[in-house]
Amino acid sequence: MKKFLAVILALAMMMTSVLALAETSYTGTAKGFVDEIQVTVTLNDDGSIADVVVDKCSDTPGVCDAAVEKIPAAMKELNSINVDTVGGATFTSNGILAAVKNALESNGVDTTALMEKKEVVVDKAADETLECDVVVIGAGGAGLAAAITAEQNGANVIVVEKMAKVGGNTILAGGAVNAVEDRSEFAIKQNDSVYWHYWQTLNGGDWQGDPELVMTLVENAYEGIQWTKELGMEWLGEEAVFTVSGGLWPRAWKPAGMASAGFFETYGNYIDNTDKISLMLNTKAEEIMVDASGAACGIIATGETGNTITINAKSVVVATGGFSKNVELRMAYDSIWGMLDEKVLSTNHPGATGDGVKMLQKLNADFIQMGNIQLLPLGDPQTGSLSGNIEHGVDSRIFVNKSGLRYGDEGGRRDDMTRDLFAQEDNLMWIVMDSDTYPTGDEINNFGETANQLVAAGRAVKADSLEELAALMNVDAENLKATIAEYNEYCIGGSKEGQADQFGRTLFGAPIDTAPFYAGARVPTVHHTMGGVRIDTLCRVYNENGEIIENLYAAGEVTGGIHGANRLGGNALADTIVFGRIAGESAALCK
Ligand code: ADP
Repeated sequence: MKKFLAVILALAMMMTSVLALAETSYTGTAKGFVDEIQVTVTLNDDGSIADVVVDKCSDTPGVCDAAVEKIPAAMKELNSINVDTVGGATFTSNGILAAVKNALESNGVDTTALMEKKEVVVDKAADETLECDVVVIGAGGAGLAAAITAEQNGANVIVVEKMAKVGGNTILAGGAVNAVEDRSEFAIKQNDSVYWHYWQTLNGGDWQGDPELVMTLVENAYEGIQWTKELGMEWLGEEAVFTVSGGLWPRAWKPAGMASAGFFETYGNYIDNTDKISLMLNTKAEEIMVDASGAACGIIATGETGNTITINAKSVVVATGGFSKNVELRMAYDSIWGMLDEKVLSTNHPGATGDGVKMLQKLNADFIQMGNIQLLPLGDPQTGSLSGNIEHGVDSRIFVNKSGLRYGDEGGRRDDMTRDLFAQEDNLMWIVMDSDTYPTGDEINNFGETANQLVAAGRAVKADSLEELAALMNVDAENLKATIAEYNEYCIGGSKEGQADQFGRTLFGAPIDTAPFYAGARVPTVHHTMGGVRIDTLCRVYNENGEIIENLYAAGEVTGGIHGANRLGGNALADTIVFGRIAGESAALCK
């Protein structure tokens, strides 16, 4: 018997190796969002897919993960290389699809059969009813800060997220958080204070922000960063504090890891280690339920398979973000720009469609300053994205137009900088800087991309002289040299150091005078909807009669009245942490 088994075993091993020999692997590449994506596709000898592996993908972690995981899995399951892209990771998805096709076709494999379009057929799961203390709608920055704080205050929490991944717009941000430790030695050295942050936030928003909400934001921002540190998040020190575009003062702290992805690594670790928070991806909240007294008491959501999920809860936190990706809504509300049709790109993720607004309207919630929509002059010309932006801080770079000339204060408010850009030819400008920012080009920008990667991907240019740079930018070299020479006079060591220039710019660092020189093109892009539902300092939501809707809380971009007519750069992430935490605590402790 033993002998017989040994023979069977040997045969089985031989069969496995014969089968393994019958497989053939092919490697291929294609352009991803940041850099080349490389894949290996293994086919069985009958031409069916044995395996698909993404060997290399430098796209933003957290943003591209869902595509890297889901597309190869779908290809294997469906035996097709023509599968659906993953929402929110379209560039990475298309890169993987193209790399797989290249791998096969460049090796002479006929892909006709494998290109047959197939979709995953899913059986609709049964409808279900769940119970918890706090249900949070949206797993972006504010939602996860709220969920964790609610849990820390003893609540059982369910978070629903309509996309296949967490992060929302927050994960696409550069990671800068404005915060001041009042009266600390560092704040004094920076000539900064909580009050100065408060004043600049209100003034920068044309005094439309609610003073109490603004004070809540600025007073709690530094503690908010400490809270993330307690959760394990790492931050760079004081030496890295900088002025983010439109931030108006050097008070932005930087996470140590990849831009905003660090928040979600940290929040994700926390959630993985508690059984009191359950996170439901691909689950879209449709409606906020209220009881007979009008108090919020849960939500109705649609699950991944189209099933209905009813979640009964003691309280509800709305953290659904903004509506910059909803062209209809932004055109209906916009009171600043008057032309926010689909031709104006957006930095936002595809889920920023204003679902929270629609759900809250049904409860007669009060909305404030909905017309205040922020544009940035910093969008990728093809996609509108923030990523690909080569700038680090305000004081080291200039903006020049297609004639190679500076045209405005690059240290100013975001709305002013965007208006200035709309007045330039083709609404396009170049951000120009030198080796101070990237001594070699292998250093990363605020989005975890190296300058050299961006150059290789055709998203930036690099040169050893200004003449060469001008040629790559296709701008007039004499203009570029003259505009930089004039700018350099105001920089450290220049003859006009300490003075404001002709555009009113006062933030100057080192001159732009040492190769390598860099430039990246940018266009206006819709970034942040500053209006939203009206809340108080406990994140309680008001209705149109000025009454509180019991057990309903909101935080983050879905709320209005904090940033006024123009939000300071670096205040949005602070907002998610500060108000996310307050909403979580309020929701956990409500009666
Ligand atoms: P904030 O900065 O305010 O946290 P984010 O954009 O980072 O905003 O996050 C908002 C999150 O809410 C996004 O991940 C988005 O997909 C999610 N979301 C929006 N609408 C819904 C909805 N109806 N159901 C579940 N999640 C939603």
